[in-house]
Amino acid sequence: MKIYTPLYFRPEELLPPEVFAELGARGLLLFPADLLRVADRLREIVGRLQCNTWYWHRGAQTQCYRGFRPYDCKIGAKRSMHKMGLALDFLPLDTSVEDCRKVIQEQHQQDFAPIRRLEKNVSWLHLDMMPTGDQRLVLFDG
Ligand SMILES: [Zn+2]
Repeated sequence: MKIYTPLYFRPEELLPPEVFAELGARGLLLFPADLLRVADRLREIVGRLQCNTWYWHRGAQTQCYRGFRPYDCKIGAKRSMHKMGLALDFLPLDTSVEDCRKVIQEQHQQDFAPIRRLEKNVSWLHLDMMPTGDQRLVLFDG
């Protein structure tokens, strides 16, 4: 199997430190390639997207679990799609979260078809590939 290497994200940005320490770049296999591809596509359209920051900034405010979450992770929902490698959280640096949601909704068929759900009413962009049984994009309240 060939690892899809994202163009705009290092493995350290999508994996928590303990998983990266164990698996290195091969940890990207925890995500479906389609999820990494749509992240790259979104980055091309909306500009910089911040995921985990632990590689650059240590300390209390650092982000470790915006991408993949180990099963025993206490952050977020117990059965979160992040624990299946099917979700990513981003903070856009060049535009607003609302604008990112709008772009994904408007260009869903062309560019973001693998995305099944966006979380609404949160201050970050959560996108995931939860199998919902159809092709539509769902906005859900977390
Ligand atoms: Zn999330």
